[in-house]
Amino acid sequence: MNQQTQPLLEFRDVCKSYDRTQAVASISVAVARREFVALVGASGSGKSTLLKTVNRLVDPSSGTVLIDGDPVESLPLAALRRRIGYVFQSVGLFPHMSVGENIAIGPRISGQKLTRERIAELLDLVDLERSMATRMPNELSGGQRQRVMIAMALLCRPGLLIADEPTTALDVTVQAQILELLRSLQREFQLGILLITHDLGVVSALCEEALVMYAGRRMEAGATHDLLRMPTHPYTRGLLDSLPHLDTPVSQRLEPIPGQPPDLGRAPTGCVFANRCPFAVDACSRSEPSMQRAANRWRACHRSVQEITEATIA
Ligand code: ADP
Repeated sequence: MNQQTQPLLEFRDVCKSYDRTQAVASISVAVARREFVALVGASGSGKSTLLKTVNRLVDPSSGTVLIDGDPVESLPLAALRRRIGYVFQSVGLFPHMSVGENIAIGPRISGQKLTRERIAELLDLVDLERSMATRMPNELSGGQRQRVMIAMALLCRPGLLIADEPTTALDVTVQAQILELLRSLQREFQLGILLITHDLGVVSALCEEALVMYAGRRMEAGATHDLLRMPTHPYTRGLLDSLPHLDTPVSQRLEPIPGQPPDLGRAPTGCVFANRCPFAVDACSRSEPSMQRAANRWRACHRSVQEITEATIA
């Protein structure tokens, strides 16, 4: 994080348990203006739970979520909506309303009328023809619908965008266009963006900083370039090894991470990744590693950086 700037959003030691399930354990991450930060994790890693603490759909069991330095619980929901724009997968448009009506529905619910000119400006921002305002969602391509979602997120001119798997439902070329749009909006409006994704390919194209989560815990965090060039956590390494590359020979098999995530209801005593980790030693099932600074990043692993980076996995 940029040290001089106050974060737009900060999770400080956030924990959340549902009954006995510890969904999020001590997560800290911050997004400042002009920063593009990724939260990377597979399904079940606690991303949704963490996000829900921002708009107070979920109360943390402990820890704090701050918006511009203010704890979220001290902010009225209307203020939260103004400061943060959300971009979800393009499933959120009402099918029986035109694009313009979809864009205007939020203000309408709170008794305000959005002018045609403002709707047109928002469509301009996301590089859609102004005439799209009268079209129905089913007449749009997936990429166009996602642009409408982004226009809606920009409605209140927020400083922060939270983009939750914004391109997962799109094909690769459209995905690249949407990511490029997010990048150019970030530059134009100096937005801070928190991108939630399971896809390291998306992260590599966009984000300066990344936090890799697994089973609600932080595994590795730092500059994206460093994490992708030299992952020092077995989980990050496993994620990278399971990604297809253009130069991967067809005959070469991808290496998915074997096994399943742990049952979080049982509160594992050691590292949550130990049962799937090819580097695990006795200590890994005895005690949970803490986040330590090493090799230009933070990592939670009992094994040393060299042991992970220099080993060949059989
Ligand atoms: P992700 O978004 O990364 O898929 P979630 O935050 O949805 O992860 O889930 C993290 C863990 O918390 C999972 O084990 C999930 O089963 C559990 N969980 C999520 N929501 C609830 C809930 N409302 N009640 C009980 N357990 C939940």
